[in-house]
Amino acid sequence: MPDSNTLTVTGLEAHAIRLPLQTPYRTASGTVTAVPLVLIELTTARGITGRSMLFAYSELTLKPLLELVRNMAPQAPVSAATLEKQLEHKSRMVGNQGLVGMALSGIDIALWDAMAKRHQCSLVELLGGEEHDLQAYASIGFEGARHCATHASQLARRGFHGIKVCIGYPTVQEDINVIQAIRNAIGPDIKLMVDYNQCLSLAEARLRLQMLEECDLYWVEEPILSHDFKGMAALNQHTGNALQSGENWWNCFEIEQAIDLGAVDYLMLNSMKCGGVSGWLKAAELARVHEAPLSSNLWPELSSQLLNLSPTAHWLQYSDWWSLLMKSPLQFSQGKALSSGAPGAGTDWDEHIVDHYRLPL
Ligand code: MG
Repeated sequence: MPDSNTLTVTGLEAHAIRLPLQTPYRTASGTVTAVPLVLIELTTARGITGRSMLFAYSELTLKPLLELVRNMAPQAPVSAATLEKQLEHKSRMVGNQGLVGMALSGIDIALWDAMAKRHQCSLVELLGGEEHDLQAYASIGFEGARHCATHASQLARRGFHGIKVCIGYPTVQEDINVIQAIRNAIGPDIKLMVDYNQCLSLAEARLRLQMLEECDLYWVEEPILSHDFKGMAALNQHTGNALQSGENWWNCFEIEQAIDLGAVDYLMLNSMKCGGVSGWLKAAELARVHEAPLSSNLWPELSSQLLNLSPTAHWLQYSDWWSLLMKSPLQFSQGKALSSGAPGAGTDWDEHIVDHYRLPL
C-alpha cells in the first residue's frame, strides 16, 4: 500500500445489517434470499473514515464474520502498515482462507478506501490508473426456461451485451432447454454465459460440457468444485467450451496454481475473498503475465475500480443486491458501467439505510 506508514488507524468498528432481496436468487448450490452484510468502519488520526462491507452469504456466517472483524480491531493507534503486519501474524496459524480471509479482505479494502480519501481521489487515480467505462454482464438465477427467456429479454432491452444464467438442472436436456430459450429470446449477438455453481461431479461435467458445445456459450463457469484445479484442467483439455472460475479462490497462490495447471481460460475475482484490494492487485498482475482475461464477481462499485486497474480487464458483473445501501450506486448505460471518479474505493453507504436495516448483533 503506498504511503501506508503515514496513515494512523485509531479504531475499527463493525455492524451487521440485512437488506431485503426482491426476488430470491436460486442457483444449483443454494438460494440467496436476503443480503446479510458486515459493514466495516475504520477511523484514522486525520479524521478520515475508511469503509468496506462484506457479503456474508447466509445467516449462518453473519455473526461469526462480524465477531471476527471486531476481534481484529487494533488495541491502540497504529499505522496501516503495522496493522496489516499484526493481522497477518495473528492469522498465520489458522490460515487466511474462509471467514478469516473475508475479514482480512474487508479490513484491507477499508484501509485502501481511507488512503484514497486522504488523497481526495478515487482508488484508480491513487494507483495511477485511468478510469473508463466497462462492459458489464447481468445474471439470471434458476428460473426455468420460460421465465429465464422473459428475464433475458428484459436485460437485452436494457442494453446488456452479456447475460449469464445459472444452470445445473437435474438433466442436461433441461440445461439446454434454458440456454436455447434464452438464445431465442436475445438473438445471436449477445454473449451468453452459464454458471454451474460447482454442482457437477467431474464425470457428469465431462458429459454435459460435451453436449453444450453446440450451444454457442461464451463461457462455462465453475462446472465442478472450484478448488479441484486438476479436475478443471482435465476438463479444459477435452472441451471446446471456455472455462471460467475464481470467485471462490482465496489468494494469489491459489490463482497461480490454477493458472499453472491450465484449469481455466478466464479468471474471475471476488474482492471480498481474494484478499481485498491488495489481493486483487497481485492477482491482476498474475493475469497480466499469463494474458488471462479477468472479470469480477459482485460489488460492482469497487469491482469497476479494480477492473480499471487490471491490464486484462474483461467483464464486470452487474449486481444490485446492495445498491440500496450505496451512497453512489454504480450507473450503467447500454450495458456499460460508467466511471464515477468519486473519491475513495466506491464503498460509502447511506446512513439512513444502515439505521433502518441494522441488526442488534
Ligand atoms: Mg459464479
